[in-house]
Amino acid sequence: MDKELYLGSIFGIKINVDLSWLIIFALITWDLDNFFAVVHPDWGITFRLLLSVSASVLFFASVLAHELAHSLVAKRLGINVSRIVLFIFGGVSNIESEPKSAKDEFLISIVGPLTSIILGVGFLLLGGATSIGISNILSAPESMLSKMSPLSTLFFWLGPINITLGLFNLIPGFPLDGGRILRSGVWAVSKNLTLSTYVASWMGRTIAWYFIISGVLMVIGFNVPIFGSGVISGVWLVFIGWFLKNAAIASFELVYIKNALGNTPVSSLMRSNIPTVSYDTPLSKFINTCIIGSDEYTYPVVKNGRLQGIISLDDVTKLDSDEWKKNKVGEVMTPANKLEPLNPKEDAADILDNQTFQNIGSIPVVQNGKVVGLVNRQDVLLWLKLQRPDDNLKNLQ
Ligand SMILES: [Zn+2]
Repeated sequence: MDKELYLGSIFGIKINVDLSWLIIFALITWDLDNFFAVVHPDWGITFRLLLSVSASVLFFASVLAHELAHSLVAKRLGINVSRIVLFIFGGVSNIESEPKSAKDEFLISIVGPLTSIILGVGFLLLGGATSIGISNILSAPESMLSKMSPLSTLFFWLGPINITLGLFNLIPGFPLDGGRILRSGVWAVSKNLTLSTYVASWMGRTIAWYFIISGVLMVIGFNVPIFGSGVISGVWLVFIGWFLKNAAIASFELVYIKNALGNTPVSSLMRSNIPTVSYDTPLSKFINTCIIGSDEYTYPVVKNGRLQGIISLDDVTKLDSDEWKKNKVGEVMTPANKLEPLNPKEDAADILDNQTFQNIGSIPVVQNGKVVGLVNRQDVLLWLKLQRPDDNLKNLQ
């Protein structure tokens, strides 16, 4: 979370930028500046840089448009989307639950690449309209480029890059959009989401390994079908392949785990008879009696048995030690109105989507206003471990 920059929100969706995106920003600006220097030696460096930065910003807006398309269709289909994160390989929409049907999955997935391709064609047309005509460019691109105005050069750069972005995302490996489209197809036929995810994720891993192996071959000097040759492209390909491979495994595990937790009540995972701490307890007393000498790091805070909030080791270590004497537990806890406590009868798969659980790794369980248990991250892992033999997941990797 710390590595992300919050930019604002659109349609109730938070837009964040991961700092890794700055690398892409710098690379694109640098690359474009070199390109402009060759094609338009008459442009000054300040002007070239200004144009390159504008191109990077417009590219950023294009990736955002792609993600917004996914998010808006998901929201339209009743799935909550809390935020979009742009990072080094593009963007991720935080679509909070799986689509309800194969058709919904197809619609949510296809709309992103479609947006990129339509944007790309739009930019190309704009480039044509602001210059000497698209047919001239297509027939003799090199000689025409040097005659182009800054604006049409910009459009002719944004066009192909958006089309490439759209096509890349159509590669049928989960969790890329194309992999999701493949999953929706298998899902429509088999009616089995786990099986479909497995097939799409297996395709994702196969394609990822093709990227990695091709990249390595390119680094040692080979010419590879589709990708060509070159050390930098090779390293980049290995990098993308590695990311895709990990993403394919992680996204399959998530579906697998959600499935394993489904139809199990929260009560079978939670620890009951948990220690609680009173709202009025001085913080220094809480540290000495609860934190030190115990392996519990998170405590529900209660007043007359009712949940007031939750306090964890992190809340304590955030403060200077001289403030421990001044404060009470109730003053530094995360208050109950910021928690989404679980119900013991609730489906355990909900734990994974729970915001409090994601943030602090623990979530109180409440029945009729009274605290009846606590679910910790270790409890979920332990439960999963007991549910399936260890090699179950290893086979998938
Ligand atoms: Zn997409």
